[in-house]
Amino acid sequence: MLLNSLAAPKGVKYHCELCGKQATLMCPNCRTVCYCTEAHRDIDEVSIHKKICGLIQELQSEKEVFGSAQQRQQHQERMNMLRKRIVDIGVEQATAALSRQEYQRAIPAALQALKYQKELDSNDRSIVTPYLLLGEAHTGLGKLQRAEEFLSFAKWVLISCEETGESRSQAIIALRGRLHRQFGKLFLFQDRFGEAEAEFAADAYYSGLATGPESPEAAQCYFHMGNLFYLRKQRQVAFQFYDKIVEIWQSYLRDLVVAGTLTGHETPGFASETKEMFMKLETVYNQNCGQNHSSTGFLQLTIALFMCTLGQEHVSDALDRVGQAHDIFLQSFGQDHPATRDAANLRVALTQSQV
Ligand SMILES: [Zn+2]
Ligand SMILES: [Zn+2]
Repeated sequence: MLLNSLAAPKGVKYHCELCGKQATLMCPNCRTVCYCTEAHRDIDEVSIHKKICGLIQELQSEKEVFGSAQQRQQHQERMNMLRKRIVDIGVEQATAALSRQEYQRAIPAALQALKYQKELDSNDRSIVTPYLLLGEAHTGLGKLQRAEEFLSFAKWVLISCEETGESRSQAIIALRGRLHRQFGKLFLFQDRFGEAEAEFAADAYYSGLATGPESPEAAQCYFHMGNLFYLRKQRQVAFQFYDKIVEIWQSYLRDLVVAGTLTGHETPGFASETKEMFMKLETVYNQNCGQNHSSTGFLQLTIALFMCTLGQEHVSDALDRVGQAHDIFLQSFGQDHPATRDAANLRVALTQSQV
C-alpha cells in the first residue's frame, strides 16, 4: 500500500522498518509496518513479516482497555504473550537463516525479535539472543563495526544479569559461550588473532560447561580454534583440534548407529553449519595429509555417517565415502583391523538400506 504523506497525522513521520529512512509504503494488513522501498518490503516480508503480521494486527486491535485493575492486568498479560510469540518467531527465523548462511535474510527477523523484546523488557537476558543473532549476521556480511556494536550490547546485558546473581544459571553460561564465539569470529575477520584466540578459549570453557567438552556443540568451538591456528600456519596445533572434532563426531554418530536411529535421526539445528565444517575439513585433510592417509579415512567415515543423518538422498554419497575409507584402512592397517571391518560392515548396511 502506498503511503500518502498528507494523510499522516501532523508531525508524524513514517520510517522504514529495516533501515529507518523515510517510508513510502505500508503493509495494508497490519497498517503498522512501513518501508522505504519495495525492495526493503520484500526482504522483510520473506524474512519475518508474513509470519507475524497477524500477531501485530492482534496487538494493534487491543491497544487500550478501560476497566477494573484486574481487567487491565489481564489485558497486559495478553499483550505480552503476543509480544513473546513475535520474539520467539523472530529468533527462530533468524537462527534458521543464519544456519543457511543467509545473513541478509536473518537481519529483519532478528530486528523484530529485538524490537518486541525491548517492549517486554530490555534488561532481561532474553534480549541477548537477538543481539547475538544480529552480531553474527553483520559479521557474516562483513559489516564489522555494526557487528561489534550489537555484540557489545549483548555483553552489557549479560554482565548486568551476572551482577544480579544469575551468573550460575545454565542459560547464562550457554549465552556466555555464544557471545565469546561471536566475538572470536569477529576478531578473526579483523586479523586480531590474539584476541580471537582468547575469545575462542573462553567459548570452549563455557560451551564445555553448558553441554560437555565432548559434545558436537563444543566441537563447533574447536573448529574455530583449529581454523585460527591453521591461519597462523601452526598446522600441528590446528590438526589437534581438527582430529578432536572427528573423534567427537564419530563417537556421537556411532551411538546413533548402535541405537538404530541414524537415518531417522532428527537433523540437529546446526546441520548446515556442520556440513560446511566437514567440507572444509575434507579440503584441509586432502591438502595436508593426502587422500590416502588414515586420518583422511577416519574423516571420510565420519562424514559418511553424518550424511546419513541428512536423509536417504545422501546415502549414495555416504557409500562413496565409506568405500574410500575402507580402501584406505585396508592399505594402512590390513583386512583384520577393527577400522577396516567397521567400514566394511557399514558399507553392507548402507547398500542394504538403499534397496
Ligand atoms: Zn528501508
Ligand atoms: Zn503487516
